[in-house]
Amino acid sequence: MSYTKKGIKQLVQEEKVEYIRLEFTDMLGDTKNVELPIEELDAVLENEAMFDSSSISGFSDINESDMYLYPDLDTCKVLPSAMEEDRIVRFICDIYTPDGTPFEGDPRYILKRAMQEAKEMGYDVNVGPEPEFFLFKRCEDGYPIRHLNDRGGYFDASPKDKGDKVRRDIVRTLKEFGFEMEASHHEVAKGQHEINFRFDDMLKTADNIQVFKNVVKDVATNHDYHATFMPKPIAGENGSGMHCHLSLFKDGDSAFHDDDAHDGISETMKHFIAGILHHAKAITAITNPNVNSYKRLVPGYEAPVSIAWSHSNRSCMIRVPNTRGKGTRFEVRNPDPTANPYLAIAVLIHAGLDGIKNQMDAGEAETRNLYEVEDDNVPTLPTNLKEALKALQQDDVLMNALGDHTSKVFIEEKGEEWTEFSLQVSEWEVERYMSK
Ligand code: GLN
Ligand code: MG
Ligand code: MG
Ligand code: MG
Repeated sequence: MSYTKKGIKQLVQEEKVEYIRLEFTDMLGDTKNVELPIEELDAVLENEAMFDSSSISGFSDINESDMYLYPDLDTCKVLPSAMEEDRIVRFICDIYTPDGTPFEGDPRYILKRAMQEAKEMGYDVNVGPEPEFFLFKRCEDGYPIRHLNDRGGYFDASPKDKGDKVRRDIVRTLKEFGFEMEASHHEVAKGQHEINFRFDDMLKTADNIQVFKNVVKDVATNHDYHATFMPKPIAGENGSGMHCHLSLFKDGDSAFHDDDAHDGISETMKHFIAGILHHAKAITAITNPNVNSYKRLVPGYEAPVSIAWSHSNRSCMIRVPNTRGKGTRFEVRNPDPTANPYLAIAVLIHAGLDGIKNQMDAGEAETRNLYEVEDDNVPTLPTNLKEALKALQQDDVLMNALGDHTSKVFIEEKGEEWTEFSLQVSEWEVERYMSK
C-alpha cells in the first residue's frame, strides 16, 4: 500500500487512532519500538522522532548516540483489533543520523543497499520465506516450560495436532495485517508448526518476517502457549528452519527460466546459485547466527549439511523445485528463523550477484543423498558459530555487504557469545565423564 502524509492523517482520524508505534530491527534481529501519542503525528511524519541508540545492539558502538526514526510511509498500518485493543498506527522505520544520512548499521539500510545493487544490474528479487516454530506450554506465571503443545507429526490432523486453532488465529491476524496467506500445517517434529505467506520483494519480505514472528508469539501467548523460533530446541528431533525461495526478474520476466535449456534453468540462475555456494560458509554466520543454529545443521533431520545444489535432495544447501516459467526459483535451506531477515537476505543477494558478475560455475546438480555419502570434494557448511564467523571475516564480498560498522560489531558480539558458550559445562558432559 502506498500512502501520502495527507492520506495517513485522514486514515488516523477515520480510525480514531490514539497512538503511533515506531518499529525497527536491531542487529540481532529483535524488533524494537517506541510509542508516541497521536498528537505527535506531524513531528513523526517530518522525521523528527529521536531516540538514544546507545542501548540498542549493533547500534551502540559509535560516537553519535542520537538517532532519528524516519517512518516508511508505505508500512503504515492501523493494528488489527485482535492484536491490540487500543487504536495504534504502526510504521516500520529507517534509521538516520543527525546529519540526515542513513545510519550504516541499520539492517534495513543494509538490505536496501543490496536491493540497489540488484537494481543497478537490472534485477528485481523476490523472496519467499518458510519460517518454522515450536509451541511450548507455559506455567502459571507465564514462563515457558519444556513441555510441547502436542505430540503430532507432519500434516497430522486434530486431535493429534493441538496447534490448529492457534495457527488459524495467527492466519486470521496476519490477514488483517494485509498478508496473503498460504498453507498452514503441523511440521515433522512434535510441537512443531509451519505457516506460509506469499513471497514479495526482498524488503517487503524482510519486514513481513518480523511482523510474522511477532504475531506468532503474541497469538501463541493469547492461547497460553510459548512460541519459539529457536533452531533446535529438542535434541534428536527436527529443528526449525527458515528456507528462503529466491527468484530474479528482468523487465518483468523471469531471469531464472530458460525455455531452451534442457532443465529449463537459465545460466543466470546457475551463476547466482554458484555465488551463494561460493560464499556459503560466510553466509552461514548471518543466516545461522546462534550457537544453537549449528545443532540443527547435522545429517538426518532434513536440514542441509553440504554446500551443493540439487533438484530434490534435502541434504544440500540449495534445492531447485520443479516449477518453471515465472515460478522458476531455488530454495536456500540453511537459514533459520533466528537470523536477522534484513541481513540474511542482503548477504544472499550480494553473494548471488557476485556469482553473476564473475560468471561462477555451479557445476552439475547433486543427485546423491549427502547425509549418507561422504565425498571430500563436496564442502560442508560450518559446524559451529566460530567457524562461520572466521569464514565471514575472510570474505570481502560479505564484509562489504554488511558495511564496516555492522561487520565489525557483529563479529565482536558473536565472538563473545561463542566464548561464553565454550566456557559452559553441559549436562551431557557431566553424565558422560563423571565416572572417569
Ligand atoms: N525442519 C526442517 C529444517 O530444519 C525442514 C523440514 C521441511 O520443511 N521439509 O530445515
Ligand atoms: Mg514448507
Ligand atoms: Mg517446513
Ligand atoms: Mg521448504
